[in-house]
Amino acid sequence: MEFFGHVIDGAEVKSSGGETFTSVDPYTREPWAEVALGGAAEVERAVAAARRAFDEGPWPRMGRAERGRLLHRLADLILEHADELGLADTRDMGKPITQSRGNDVPRAADNFRFFADHARLTTAETLPMDSGHHAYTRYEPVGVAAAIAPWNFPLMLETWKIAPALAWGNTVVLKPAEDTPASATILARLALEAGLPPGVLNVVHGYGPDSAGQALTEHPGIDRITFTGESATGRVISAAAAGHLVPVSLELGGKGGNAVFADADLDNAVSWSIKAIFTNAGQVCLAGSRLYVQRPVFDEFIARFTAAAEAMCLGDPKLDSTQLGPLASKTHYRKVRGYVETVAEEGGSVRSGGLGDGWFVRPTVITGMPATGRHQREEIFGPVVTVTPFDTEDEVVALMNDTRYGLNAMLFTENLSRAHRVSARLRAGTVWVNCFFVRDLRAPFGGAGDSGVGREGGTFSREFFTEPKAVVMQID
Ligand code: NAD
Repeated sequence: MEFFGHVIDGAEVKSSGGETFTSVDPYTREPWAEVALGGAAEVERAVAAARRAFDEGPWPRMGRAERGRLLHRLADLILEHADELGLADTRDMGKPITQSRGNDVPRAADNFRFFADHARLTTAETLPMDSGHHAYTRYEPVGVAAAIAPWNFPLMLETWKIAPALAWGNTVVLKPAEDTPASATILARLALEAGLPPGVLNVVHGYGPDSAGQALTEHPGIDRITFTGESATGRVISAAAAGHLVPVSLELGGKGGNAVFADADLDNAVSWSIKAIFTNAGQVCLAGSRLYVQRPVFDEFIARFTAAAEAMCLGDPKLDSTQLGPLASKTHYRKVRGYVETVAEEGGSVRSGGLGDGWFVRPTVITGMPATGRHQREEIFGPVVTVTPFDTEDEVVALMNDTRYGLNAMLFTENLSRAHRVSARLRAGTVWVNCFFVRDLRAPFGGAGDSGVGREGGTFSREFFTEPKAVVMQID
């Protein structure tokens, strides 16, 4: 079995008491990696290392061009190790290799390139004042950022947090999800190879409550918490952050609505709607898990959509031909299975799909589910979609907004006015029109309601990872 350690102060290390846990490959359902299991002691060492690297080390004092050069070097190394990184996430959580190696790895590299360049090119306001003074703004690093990540896009989401934090001169302690530890250790090894000084990027493995996660969020030595995960965990982390007045960014769950109007290009709508719910076996915060189809095209859409769902290739996620892998863990499989098994008792019917072998759930299409049912209200986080007909624009806007989440929404229409009108009425951090999951790192990303607090991306990440300072000078 491969071993993945913590990375603290420039070295890959074991836990002080030698504790470990294993990561299970959800396709073989066998352990494939042994991982150092950290707790408060390892968090203490990591925060101390990050603090030293911030207070005394070269990283925050380095010019932005030099920091950017090192982060671009890290991006190069990520791409050079695409096979290793992609396979690590695939073995940890069953994501098809074409998605981990083919999508997440390049996006991880791009995160470092983008935020390095963004920090370097950022301008700051200068304010001429009538009083014979002028004021200017400095964006200064904040110190030690704690990053806590989920298991569904391990490398991509971790780098989404780490890249802006580092680009702005902070140091980082990352706690990856316990189901997906491997790519984080590989990333930290590559960061050292790229020349990032010791202590700048630290990784501590472990669980959440009563373990490394909780110890990190409650540690008095951290200056920011950036968290992505479940809404319930977000509440706990928000309370921990409030305990020591640390700003927190929360990217939480979702229950994305997806409206297909009768005037949509149906080929396009079917193709994106399939991706919206079945990419990564539906284990996507942005999943289009509530699909609404205008009545005149409902039957035709359902026929085409279920045919495309049934044509998906399930199998070994390590193969290029596989489009849908198993669910990420036994616990998660059992949760999703619970939803599939209760469709009839909740008033719906399964049009296609259902349970597969091992920890597989086939692409599952449900109709007839009441809007008040669990399947329409709770985040299933699997390849399971409810499809509901609608008649009017007002009706579908009300249905889509009838959720405690507010992360994203999709709509398909060829009517330009409708596209703008409906986009404005939806309560969502991102609205995709005639597409899905297309991202520009300058755009705000985040959600309303139970989907989170704050935004990431471009200037939004800068606001979070810096302390803007006003300097006021007398001219005469
Ligand atoms: P989770 O909340 O169970 O765990 C996320 C991380 O938090 C893990 O590293 C875990 O160890 C840690 N953690 C758990 N309890 C903790 C505690 N008390 N203190 C500190 N750390 C703790 O989430 P998950 O199951 O790993 O991820 C799936 C969830 O993430 C879904 O709800 C999904 O929608 C959400 N998500 C949101 C986004 C987004 O951008 N909004 C992106 C991806 C995933």
